[in-house]
Amino acid sequence: MLISIVVPCFNEEEIVDRFHARVTDELALLEGELGHEFELVYVDDGSRDGTLERLDHLAAADSRARYVSFSRNFGKEAAMLAGLQYAKGDAVVIMDADLQHPPELVRRMLALHEEGYEQVIARRTRKGDRVTRTLAARAYYRLINRLIDVELVDGVGDFRLLSRRAVDAVLGLAEYNRFSKGIFAWVGFRSTTFEYENAAREQGRSKWSFGKLLNYGLDGMLSFNNKPLRAALYLGLLLVSLASLYAAWIVVEAMVNGVDSPGYVTLLVAVTALSGVQMVMVGVVGEYVGRIYYEVKRRPHYLVAATDVDRPRRTLRATDQELVGT
Ligand code: UDP
Ligand code: MG
Repeated sequence: MLISIVVPCFNEEEIVDRFHARVTDELALLEGELGHEFELVYVDDGSRDGTLERLDHLAAADSRARYVSFSRNFGKEAAMLAGLQYAKGDAVVIMDADLQHPPELVRRMLALHEEGYEQVIARRTRKGDRVTRTLAARAYYRLINRLIDVELVDGVGDFRLLSRRAVDAVLGLAEYNRFSKGIFAWVGFRSTTFEYENAAREQGRSKWSFGKLLNYGLDGMLSFNNKPLRAALYLGLLLVSLASLYAAWIVVEAMVNGVDSPGYVTLLVAVTALSGVQMVMVGVVGEYVGRIYYEVKRRPHYLVAATDVDRPRRTLRATDQELVGT
């Protein structure tokens, strides 16, 4: 079997070398024991530091490694997609470049894959995370699982093994707005999850700011259902019924006590509250329209600026050089 390891990298120059060394140590062991072959597909997501040069070196020195480099930063989703597209393996493992996904776990994934699981998912504990982030995550997952059609699990990320069949299924979903947590869950197949201890990032910094996380969370809610639209509808109906009740009450009151003019506060509150609600609803609709807009443009998910995947393998290159030398 050929196993591909897909590694999205964005500004990881400080750590890719170390990552590569750790992974290849582990892969060498596995090759000996299990007789699998491995390939490493690095995706440089438009890094602005020396990541590309590092990858170029790695790929030149190690025939297992290849890389694809984007013309700019397209985001991790696009990088993973490219990795899956370029991977040729019978199974693919997706891994972060920052060593937060321990390479030693690949062995466990392969063992579970052997047992017939088509998705082997590593779930991290939240050890070392800030309490606020842990609580926010917990609340988010409770909310989102009520809202969307697929089930998302806290701590489950992109670190997983996919069978060829699962990879092809993921690639079959051509949507532009890619929320891979949802996509992987949507694809299904026989899946299993195991837990590993969260490791802090060793070098460089996480690319997730609070704002980015918030947007990502919203993406998740909007990509997998139309329940926010449904909720807007219900909210509208609720407000209409409340308003009718209030109107009826005012009529009754006027008949009993005669017409009474004060009430401008009520009026003001009603007007501002209602226009707020309307803006939110227009916003929700706008989000979906925006998504449709991006989908119909059918732009590519990424542009490749440099790659060595078409370059002949190292053995061939060595003979080329010999020929040039003579
Ligand atoms: N990454 C990427 N493109 C981006 C942001 C991140 O390819 O725009 C890669 C990054 O190099 C790393 C992985 O995605 O290999 C996870 O990123 P990070 O460690 O910043 O996220 P965290 O572990 O904090 O969730
Ligand atoms: Mg990380």
